[in-house]
Amino acid sequence: MGYLEAGEAIIYGRYVEGVRIRHVIDEYYDLVVIPGFSDGHMHPQVVDAGLEPGVLWRHSYEWFENRRLVVDEAGIRSDLKLSSMLASLVFKRSLLEGTTLVAVTGRLEANLRAWLSLREKPRTVFLPTVMKRRGWASVSEVSDVAQRYVKYLDDGLARIGVFVHSVRYGASMLRDALLLAKRLGSVVGIHVSEGIREMEELARLAGGPPYPARIVGVHCMEDEDPAYYGVTCISCPYSNHLLYRRTRRSISGITGFGSDWPLLVGSVGSHIKMITSLFKEDPVGILKRATMGGYKAYGMRHQGDMVAIDGGLRRLLEGRARVRLVTVNNRLVVREGRLVSTGESLKDVTRKIQAAIMQAKHLYPAKQVVKG
Ligand SMILES: [Zn+2]
Repeated sequence: MGYLEAGEAIIYGRYVEGVRIRHVIDEYYDLVVIPGFSDGHMHPQVVDAGLEPGVLWRHSYEWFENRRLVVDEAGIRSDLKLSSMLASLVFKRSLLEGTTLVAVTGRLEANLRAWLSLREKPRTVFLPTVMKRRGWASVSEVSDVAQRYVKYLDDGLARIGVFVHSVRYGASMLRDALLLAKRLGSVVGIHVSEGIREMEELARLAGGPPYPARIVGVHCMEDEDPAYYGVTCISCPYSNHLLYRRTRRSISGITGFGSDWPLLVGSVGSHIKMITSLFKEDPVGILKRATMGGYKAYGMRHQGDMVAIDGGLRRLLEGRARVRLVTVNNRLVVREGRLVSTGESLKDVTRKIQAAIMQAKHLYPAKQVVKG
């Protein structure tokens, strides 16, 4: 037995100088982050966000109905093998960026298969998207898949809930989703107030607060207090900036952060510079949300989750720090900046992501200008 020593540390959202932690061997790093970064909202099958230079939107519905995708998203989701491969690349990239907890929407079975096939994986909250549209699951389909897989999951490392797409595209499913989440001891996620104030409507449709299960609202960009409506908020400042050139005015009211499109922009662990430059608020408050936040929002354990980094706090905030070592549940998953069992580095995985995106675009091109 030895000690891991670090010049600086972020421990449970607090900054401290100089730490010494029991460790398998003696090692020194510039910065240790405990627990690691958490990414409270990801779409692991999104290979194209319909971004066009100079095009900004007013709200999520305008974007969703009018974006021009080069791929057929429903086609990609229907391909279990491809969807699962995309999800495993997302899990690997997240770990290599120091993200030890992720919450993934999209196709449940693809995400579960990817997760179960990997030796090294982040703690994961599975929030399969339900929507009354072609190519999307219903609450009962999610319930069936969850029932088949839940016995393979260790509750401390993984949890299954439901993701209702939005107030407009899922109102009729919200109550059933909340009842399923209650049965699973889990949460309901939902895109909310992404350009339009919707908290009041969400609370009305969900019949509370209190609700049968916890509601995690994603984006909550508008000037509303999520706590007043009994909702926990995950903010996605990076994708909000790309789509709308604005995000929530302050970190107050935000519990944690999400990346939205990890294949395209990476996970929260790689967004610290972006988030601090958008909010211009206390970096420690931002780091607390970027680490503890996701764990808190989803009620996940964090014992034994840690990231050791080359470069101190200043370099992390400048986006120049390098993740060297990651543990999840006290198990070593990244060492010397590489996944322990495969030896892959972040560079290797991002190269594979580029190839997988090309493959998805080739296999499932948009049939015409896709609407919705
Ligand atoms: Zn989203």
